[in-house]
Amino acid sequence: MSTTEDYDLLDDLEAGELSVEFEGQEPWDLLEWALERFGSRLALSTAFQEGDVALIDMAYAIDPGVRVFSIDTGRLPQETFDLIEDLRARYDGLRLELLSPDAGQLQRLVDLKGPNLFRASVENRLLCCNVRKVQPLTRVLAGLEAWVTGLRRDQWASRSDIRKVEIDHDHGAIVKLNPLAEWSEEEVWDYLRENDVPTHALYAQGYTSIGCAPCTRPVAKGEPVRAGRWWWESDAPKECGMHCAIETGGFEHELHAIVGESAHE
Ligand code: SF4
Repeated sequence: MSTTEDYDLLDDLEAGELSVEFEGQEPWDLLEWALERFGSRLALSTAFQEGDVALIDMAYAIDPGVRVFSIDTGRLPQETFDLIEDLRARYDGLRLELLSPDAGQLQRLVDLKGPNLFRASVENRLLCCNVRKVQPLTRVLAGLEAWVTGLRRDQWASRSDIRKVEIDHDHGAIVKLNPLAEWSEEEVWDYLRENDVPTHALYAQGYTSIGCAPCTRPVAKGEPVRAGRWWWESDAPKECGMHCAIETGGFEHELHAIVGESAHE
């Protein structure tokens, strides 16, 4: 892989032009370009969804040294850890980093709100997602110039206009790449079958989106893929704050008490 010392970060205009250029191209075309350009200053983010493991397979084929990270929220289902072991066995030497929430922040959260706070209100749920997911994500992204996600336009209304190359203004204006943006769920599964990629066991039990165990359940046929996330909430975004800033006006004060004034909301 070539070194990337002399490259600058992209700006919004360049990202827009690249998005147009890569629209209609295969996901691995964008990955190959990105790995060449950013090298080890790029990492794949994975929550072990179907698209995430497809991207691991594609990226590993291009560069077995590709960095992959995931956030171990402390509430993941056992099946997620089983899949991690399957991936480690399949992709020899895979650089998969599991990141944990800050122990002090987590202690304060649980002391203040209890372990199952997310059931009580949307604000509490966002507080939990922030401490367990958003803060660790913010820390890892601070050391990167580009990150890759498995987001697709067909997943939820809030994702319908994502572009393949974006500037992530919520995370220091680094580059955010969504190589699967224009693929459908069916295309992803076709890829996984054709390439015999290990997948999450919960899909066989009716789940269509994988997250923390207490906040994810199977969906009925015909329901949107993210309908099983935080299913008890109505009129709240099916997002945790990792991919878009969420402002409710309701949880920021408590968040600051738990994580400090520099908290990423
Ligand atoms: S998905 Fe649920 S358990 Fe996981 S971080 Fe969010 S609120 Fe907490």
